[in-house]
Amino acid sequence: MALDSKVPQGPLKDKWTDYKNHINLVNPANKRHIDVIVVGTGLAGGSASATLAELGYNVKSFAYQDSPRRAHSIAAQGGINAAKNYQGDGDSTYRLFYDTVKGGDYRSREANVYRLAEVSANIIDQCVAQGVPFARDYGGLLDNRSFGGVLVSRTFYAKGQTGQQLLLGAYSAMNRQIARGKIEMFNRHEMLDVVVVDGKARGIIARNLVTGEIERHSAHAVVIASGGYGNVYFLSTNAMGSNVTAGWKVHKKGAYFANPCYTQIHPTCIPRSGDYQSKLTLMSESLQNDGRIWVPKNLEDVTAIREGKLKPTQLTEDQRDYYLERRYPAFGNLVPRDVASRAAKERCDAGYGVNATGEAVYLDFAASFERYGSEQAKIQNISNPSAAKIKELGQEIVRAKYGNLFQMYEKIVDENPYETPMMIYPAVHYTMGGVWVDYNLMTTIPGCYAIGEANFSDHGANRLGASALMQGLADGYFVLPYTIGDYLSDDIRTGKIATDTPEFDAAEKEVTERIEFFVNNKGTHSVDYYHKKLGKIMWDKCGMSRNKAGLEEAVEEISALRKDFWKNVIVPGTATEYNEQLAKAGRVADFLELGELFAKDALVREESAGGHFREEHQTEDGEAKRMKEFQFVSAWEYKGEPKDAVLHKEALVYENIEVKERSYK
Ligand SMILES: Cc1cc2nc3c(=O)[nH]c(=O)nc-3n(C[C@H](O)[C@H](O)[C@H](O)COP(=O)(O)OP(=O)(O)OC[C@H]3O[C@@H](n4cnc5c(N)ncnc54)[C@H](O)[C@@H]3O)c2cc1C
Repeated sequence: MALDSKVPQGPLKDKWTDYKNHINLVNPANKRHIDVIVVGTGLAGGSASATLAELGYNVKSFAYQDSPRRAHSIAAQGGINAAKNYQGDGDSTYRLFYDTVKGGDYRSREANVYRLAEVSANIIDQCVAQGVPFARDYGGLLDNRSFGGVLVSRTFYAKGQTGQQLLLGAYSAMNRQIARGKIEMFNRHEMLDVVVVDGKARGIIARNLVTGEIERHSAHAVVIASGGYGNVYFLSTNAMGSNVTAGWKVHKKGAYFANPCYTQIHPTCIPRSGDYQSKLTLMSESLQNDGRIWVPKNLEDVTAIREGKLKPTQLTEDQRDYYLERRYPAFGNLVPRDVASRAAKERCDAGYGVNATGEAVYLDFAASFERYGSEQAKIQNISNPSAAKIKELGQEIVRAKYGNLFQMYEKIVDENPYETPMMIYPAVHYTMGGVWVDYNLMTTIPGCYAIGEANFSDHGANRLGASALMQGLADGYFVLPYTIGDYLSDDIRTGKIATDTPEFDAAEKEVTERIEFFVNNKGTHSVDYYHKKLGKIMWDKCGMSRNKAGLEEAVEEISALRKDFWKNVIVPGTATEYNEQLAKAGRVADFLELGELFAKDALVREESAGGHFREEHQTEDGEAKRMKEFQFVSAWEYKGEPKDAVLHKEALVYENIEVKERSYK
């Protein structure tokens, strides 16, 4: 199949405007006759549902949680980017576009990213109008902060709860439409298949998770907004329920999948504590502004610390290795996320990890306590302050900046990070791959769209912070509502889509048979047993650093694990009750297929990009080269010529596990 990204002709900066001026529209009276299914109510799906309903379409929204406001988007802490240039520091649409393409290691589709930057400013206006309480400065104007990898302050935030506040905004917009009857909300419903009729997506099969009932829902178009699949690694910072099922089902029905192996790995997470953990917690990247990362220089000290015979605070400066400051003096502790993550892994792999699992490095605020404390002592005219006074004054400043994060750390780890350095380790955070979409956000199944983290198009191989929220809301509030109209304008006379057709029969049968298999298979191992094993293969062999032999092993091991799963999995309970294990069995079955595709994708990419490093490159020289690239790729300039896809490399695109096409447009 030839992929057509359908990027409009013309200069980059005019594409979206020209596109909007020339697409087909559906008039308000006709919108009433058109149904749209939206799977997912996170920032992407919630904003899309509310906007489509506001426009007049009949929307059916689905979420597996008990309320739209429990979508994983609620966890987002740091902020959302927008090219408002409120700080007057030189920001512009072009700069946001440029930073995002560069941050994506030049693997994102330029036309989509330019559009994203263009509509970013509208998102802030929309959310402020909804009442989202963005942080404001002393004078009452919207405040901004800076995130890694950029030279301007363009990140809007609401304390450390930006995702939550944005989601409440989208949720209230949805609720207005639910009350009007324009959105029919299906909470606790899981989409288990898409139904394709005459080559077009015309509905879904969903399971009521409370009663176990299998339902048919039809529509003129289906939108997948099901979020990311970082939980393929078992442990990640994602919500426990995040999964790939919706995206995977449309993939299996013919939608192409792109860049499955691109995963953002965040350096600042609370380390795994042992084998019985099911979730990882993110600490904000902002901590690296004031914390210094180190491990002991000597292995004997590492052993003594692990055995509890030595405290990190007892080590003198010359017994510590501030490895980021040593290796990257220009960036120090604020190297990009991928570099910080790999460097921590390298030290831990060499035996310097400071906790029981050997997978932790220190993030130490002692120097900041002293720096801020000395400054405060001067400001407060305290002459000859004692060391204790300086520390106390410094801690007050740090508490004001990051108090809630310190508190969260203490609750989870049961150690006071004001007195002993925090421990951190990299963790899987975000997936950039997903269902392939064209400029219209349509997958390769006509009438089936994918938006938000579930699609692949905007962010390439590496993520800047604060751009996922921007993408989800851009797609839902400002892009899809236009592009889907162009498609639906052909459907104004179609009428209701029937559900008593052979296509619905076949899809429902497949779903039912799979569920029956799970509850009737009296195997020996739990679903989590397989999920954990998959996660270990993924992390060890398809994680931050990868090599050919390891990836080949991963492909074999995942395939064997999948066969074992289908033979020996056991799912307690029945199919006609609320059965979390049954729901999870289906999700893990899909992760086991995605995992293999993921490993194959990583195997054929003989490159280091974004968060991943082929071990062949993982030398100090290789890392230095990557850093140099990060600093100096600014030499790249967009030349204004329309390109069909991305600047350097188009996505590797897969169909049904086999690699069908490798296209470099
Ligand atoms: C800890 C953490 C912090 C983050 N902080 C930031 C940040 O500060 N800034 C930023 O830009 N990004 C951040 N991100 C990334 C960002 O939060 C996500 O990329 C974004 O929220 C994804 O939104 P979404 O709408 O695509 O998906 P989600 O919010 O994951 O929503 C998915 C929806 O799909 C539904 N769903 C899924 N499968 C099915 C199915 N089969 N059937 C029915 N419903 C289904 C779910 O119920 C849910 O409603 C962070 C990520 C993490 C993990």
